[in-house]
Amino acid sequence: MSLKDRIIALIGTDGPLPVSVYMTLCLHDPEHGYYARGGGLGRDFATAPETSQAFGELIGLWCAHEWLAMGSPDPCRLIELGPGRGTLLADALRATARHGGFREALDVQLVEASPALRAEQAERLAGDSAAAHKVAVSHPRDLSAVPDGPALLIANEFLDCLPARQFVRDGGTWRERVIGISDEGRLVAGLAADQAPDMPASPENVLELQPGLETLVETLGRRRGPFRALFADYGPADRAPGDTLRAYRAGEQVDPLADPGEADLTVDVDFARLKRLAETAGLAVHGPVLQGGFLMALGLQARLDQLVAANPDEAADIFAAAQRLVDPAEMGTRFQVICLSTQGLPPPAGF
Ligand code: SAH
Repeated sequence: MSLKDRIIALIGTDGPLPVSVYMTLCLHDPEHGYYARGGGLGRDFATAPETSQAFGELIGLWCAHEWLAMGSPDPCRLIELGPGRGTLLADALRATARHGGFREALDVQLVEASPALRAEQAERLAGDSAAAHKVAVSHPRDLSAVPDGPALLIANEFLDCLPARQFVRDGGTWRERVIGISDEGRLVAGLAADQAPDMPASPENVLELQPGLETLVETLGRRRGPFRALFADYGPADRAPGDTLRAYRAGEQVDPLADPGEADLTVDVDFARLKRLAETAGLAVHGPVLQGGFLMALGLQARLDQLVAANPDEAADIFAAAQRLVDPAEMGTRFQVICLSTQGLPPPAGF
C-alpha cells in the first residue's frame, strides 16, 4: 500500500491530520518516508555543503576556532544534526586535520533520523582515523542521548525540516490547518472545526509554528557543560513565517499533497522565535546574520584562492559554486546563520 493510501486510510478512521503530522509521515515513515528512504540530496535539492567544499571547510575552521576559545576541551563532542550524506563533516575534518589536537579531541555524535543516511554517514566518515577525514562516529537516538560535557553543534538545513503546524485566521479566531480528504478522494487542506486557543497576536493571516524548535532549545538548555550551536537555514530574521510549506522534487517545486513521501517537504525557519526561546532558556544568542556575510567574515575569499591555486583548471567552477553560497540572489541572503551558546564564552567568530 502506498503512503498516500495509508494516509487516506488513517484520515478515514482518525479524522483530518495537522500539517505537522502529515509532514512527519511524509519525511519519516519507516517504509515510505522521504528521508527514511535516503532523501534526494543533490537530486531533489542542493545544500551548501553539496554545492561547494569551501562551506564545510570554513565551518570546520570555525569549530576549531571556537574549540580554542572554549579552552581546548578534551574530549569535546562534535554534534551534527541531520548530517545528510556527511559531506559537511568530511570537508570540516579534512580542513582541520592539522589543527593542533582539535581532531583528536573530538567525539563525533551524528543525530540522524534516517537509517539509510546513517549508513551513508558511517561509510563516509568512520574507519581508519589516520586518514584525514575519517573518525569514529556515534549515532545517538536523538540530541538528548548525546553525553554531557563540552560540545560544538552544527546543523545545516536541519531546522527547515522540523514539522510545522499551521494556523489560519478565521474571522476573529484562529483554526489549525488540517489535511483531509476531498469528495473525489484526494488529499486537501482544510480547517479544524475547533478554535485554536492561546494564539500569539499577529498581523498575519497564516502562522506556522515548529514545535521542534522548543524541544531543541529545551534539550540544549538541559545540557551540562559549555557549548556552542551553529544553525544555518532559510527563513526571515524578524517576523513569523506565514504559509511557507513547500515540496521539492527533481529541483522543481511541486504540490506538497500530491505524492506523499516522494518529495522533500520544508518550511521557513522562524529565527526570531528561535532567538526568543533561546534567550528565555538563558542561552547567549548571536545572529541571525546573513550567510553570505558570515562566510566572507570567516575568510571565504582566502579559502577559494587556495583552492584555485591548487586546481587552476577548475577555477571557474570553484568560484561559480562558492558564488551561489554568498550571492544575494541565491543562498547569500535567503540563508541566515545563528549561534546559541552557554553564557560566559567570548563572542563567536563571524558575527
Ligand atoms: N545537513 C545536510 C543535510 C540536510 S537535509 C546538508 O546540508 O547537506 C536534512 C537532514 O536532516 C537529513 O539528513 C534528514 O534525514 C535529517 N533529519 C530530518 N529530520 C530529522 C530529525 N527529526 N532528527 C534527525 N535527523 C533529521
